[in-house]
Amino acid sequence: MTVTMDTLVSLCKRRGFVFQSSEIYGGTGSCYDYGPLGVELKNNLKRLWWRDFVQNRPDMVGIDASILMHPMVWKASGHLENFTDPMVDCRECKLRFRADDVDTLAWTHYCEATKGNKFTIPAGEPCSHCGARRTLCPDCGKGELTPPRRFNLMFKTFMGPVEEEASVAYLRPETAQAMFVNFENVLQSMRLKLPFGIAQAGRSFRNEITPGNFIFRTREFEQMEIEYFVNPRDTVEGRPADEYWHDRWIADCMAWFRRYGLREENLRLREHDQSELSHYSKRTVDIDYRFPIGWSELMGIANRTDFDLKQHAKFSGKSLTYFDEERKEHIVPYVVEPASGVDRALLAFLADAYTEEEVRGEKRVVLRFHPELAPVKVAVLPLLKKRDEIVKAAHAIRATLAGEWRVVYDDTAAIGRLYRRQDEVGTPYCVTVDVQTVGDSDKGEVGDGKVTIRDRDSMGQARVPIEALTGVFRDLLSGGDWAKVASEFPAAK
Ligand code: ATP
Repeated sequence: MTVTMDTLVSLCKRRGFVFQSSEIYGGTGSCYDYGPLGVELKNNLKRLWWRDFVQNRPDMVGIDASILMHPMVWKASGHLENFTDPMVDCRECKLRFRADDVDTLAWTHYCEATKGNKFTIPAGEPCSHCGARRTLCPDCGKGELTPPRRFNLMFKTFMGPVEEEASVAYLRPETAQAMFVNFENVLQSMRLKLPFGIAQAGRSFRNEITPGNFIFRTREFEQMEIEYFVNPRDTVEGRPADEYWHDRWIADCMAWFRRYGLREENLRLREHDQSELSHYSKRTVDIDYRFPIGWSELMGIANRTDFDLKQHAKFSGKSLTYFDEERKEHIVPYVVEPASGVDRALLAFLADAYTEEEVRGEKRVVLRFHPELAPVKVAVLPLLKKRDEIVKAAHAIRATLAGEWRVVYDDTAAIGRLYRRQDEVGTPYCVTVDVQTVGDSDKGEVGDGKVTIRDRDSMGQARVPIEALTGVFRDLLSGGDWAKVASEFPAAK
């Protein structure tokens, strides 16, 4: 099923994933705050990316650079001159649009042929009454649009106490430049050999003209970027090293998104044609995802050649080269850049995980997150909150498991309701403590020391001794098979 953006936005707010920033003051344009579950999900996503692309690889290292960089960085990189979008303004309502976006929006039309009645017409289509096509502002339907003007997307600020031209600084619009600027530092300190990559995850800022679609396009966002340096003289499997590694990174990134749950049918590759290529790029391929707003870029993987290192060498006067031992010469490495957005990836994982199904005549909403992404891994639920022993045992189990994972305790509703709440936020497993676990001391019964684990996806159950829980969850939460656990620890019929 395809979930609508409205459904996701409302779920995110209701269940503490994402809130409008400064909402009590009416909100800040296109800025969002991650709530208690959102921050867990986001941290998991970044941790997995780091683990799989940095920690596990011998050819990768990371950095964490400052957001404010020397203004010359942006001159050298071309951002001061080229990081612009053509925009048009409505002369009536003053709304601003990206020039290349205007015809992708539904438009408002006051139709002469129907006594000036107001219609909203789908993007790119003519009015079905008078045949007119859009010429005015798509939003108010009345104002003329100005000719396109170039608008730089970088946020400008001032360093230090004096607001003058000499102290202008910019919030970085991408994390990538820090990897180029630190190339020599990293190379020397880590004694690296080509090919190798430098990764960074962190905030970027773009004064987008038309932000929107929830966290898809915001003005403050997080990126996870890699600059993978290769020797352009080398060949791998008979191909130039930069071309070989470009394809390898495209395949590895696709595999990564699939591994954590994005479905094949919602992913596609899109090759940039020549006219669309950035000024530095030899070839760029986007991984597109079928978002609720339609197919759009999830991440981009560009072959940036030696453009950036050469530019920074030119502007800084420092040599940014690599000594090729074999050929006994200094070369400027080429670089392949897999650049993704944390927020956009999070939106894709949310959309893909969202499922509605009918269970015994009732609607069940489930976020089928991969267990390693799920914000909460286990919820511990007492079957009866009036029984002290049950509550005590449940708290103790939560405390033990919380040493390894994010685990919550909840006793604020009946069990059926508690399960549904956990399903809706994607918690893969619930643990229920009942009378059988602790025994009924009034009747002189001792408990069996076992609890019920309930699996989110199949809703199946297993009955597991408390002391085995940690081991079972270590297995399940790292991709272990539920069917195996269910057959090893069968639940009573
Ligand atoms: P778009 O064409 O959507 O503006 P872009 O091609 O300018 O994106 P890049 O500069 O390649 O984007 O940035 C790499 C990644 O950073 C994007 O694929 C996206 O995931 C993320 N990203 C870029 N701009 C934004 C934004 N305004 N809000 C959220 N994520 C963003």
